[in-house]
Amino acid sequence: MAIDPLKLRPATRLVQGGVHRTPHGETAEALFLTSGYVYDDAEQAEATFLGNVEHYQYSRFGNPTLAMLEERLCLIEGAEACRLTATGMAAVNAALLAHLKAGDRVVASRALFGSCHWIVSTLLPKFGIETVFVDGADLAQWKSALSQPVNLVLLETPSNPMLDIVDLRAVSDLAHGAGAIVVVDNVFATPLLQQPMTMGADVVVYSCTKHIDGQGRVLGGAILASNKWVNDVLQPFIRNTGPTMSAFNAWILLKGLETLTLRVDACCRAAETIANFLAEQKGITRVWYPTRADHPQRDLAMKQMTAGGTVVTFEVADGKAGAFRTMNAFELIKVSNNLGDSKSLATHPATTTHSKIGEAERAILGISDGVIRLSIGLEDPEDIKDDLRRGLAALNG
Ligand SMILES: *Cc1c(COP(=O)(O)O)cnc(C)c1O
Repeated sequence: MAIDPLKLRPATRLVQGGVHRTPHGETAEALFLTSGYVYDDAEQAEATFLGNVEHYQYSRFGNPTLAMLEERLCLIEGAEACRLTATGMAAVNAALLAHLKAGDRVVASRALFGSCHWIVSTLLPKFGIETVFVDGADLAQWKSALSQPVNLVLLETPSNPMLDIVDLRAVSDLAHGAGAIVVVDNVFATPLLQQPMTMGADVVVYSCTKHIDGQGRVLGGAILASNKWVNDVLQPFIRNTGPTMSAFNAWILLKGLETLTLRVDACCRAAETIANFLAEQKGITRVWYPTRADHPQRDLAMKQMTAGGTVVTFEVADGKAGAFRTMNAFELIKVSNNLGDSKSLATHPATTTHSKIGEAERAILGISDGVIRLSIGLEDPEDIKDDLRRGLAALNG
């Protein structure tokens, strides 16, 4: 591109950023479904392996379609480097295992995506890594956990499903003081609503499965960080352990990014309207949405995010029975444990995504049996409201 892409606005970067055309001049990004690459001669292969020549070697470590997606994600995040993985969990796992070793200490916010919680609570201790959970919204707990040397901090904000907010600036400063790098799972905010690196984060991870695809088609993950950390720490891990994204999925995700602004803006607007609508309905005991006046951390949310996100969480009366009556009466909103989709999806966290953590841990996180997580899609918000009315009619009998 002749124009410096960093001078362009985000929506433009998402459409035009990172495009590298072949001599055929194709309009859309080319899909390189190839496992390997050929060299002009043996000397070029030798020079490539010595690192003296830039040439693709093998798609486990690099592929031109993935390179376009990596560049586009760097442009939107303001990061120096990006690596892609087959899933969001592979991204979290690679970021953690590439950085950590036996004897290290990790501090994480307790309100993490279920599999991230498992990596911290179960996998890392198996390898001699000490892990500590804190209440992400409570700075005093971060201060205490970070008053001794720590190697890595992992957090999610807003959190799943209760939409707790972690103070990125304050926690990053404390973490750096303790010698830790800060890894932020930014899935709920998307790269458009919150840029953790501008508030001190060192590594940002995404499940591209969520808003970046946003149309329920493919799985994918991304890790963004400095050139130095990616080259020295992450790339050897990815190259040798192979959590690589397929080129086909990278191509789908490139097309997903083209419409990310349109989709996320529309879903956020609808989510805010629907949160306010739900708060007025009979049978609903509480609504959580980051920009609502009754969110306990609204000011912090407004400081670090440009909108409240695409997820609304609410609690109905009559616990699990009430939640099931409500969800089973939906016609448009689908029962699914996914989120960030163009279709509106409802989840009952206590019996699905958060069933394995147990009742005691759910109580600490505030996930009661009446809680429903709603991922707002691209349907007309008035139709979503009508569907919610159907659910509430069943709830209230
Ligand atoms: C979905 C999700 C993940 C895992 O991503 P996958 O692509 O499903 O592996 C991690 N963190 C958060 C916050 C998520 O929502």
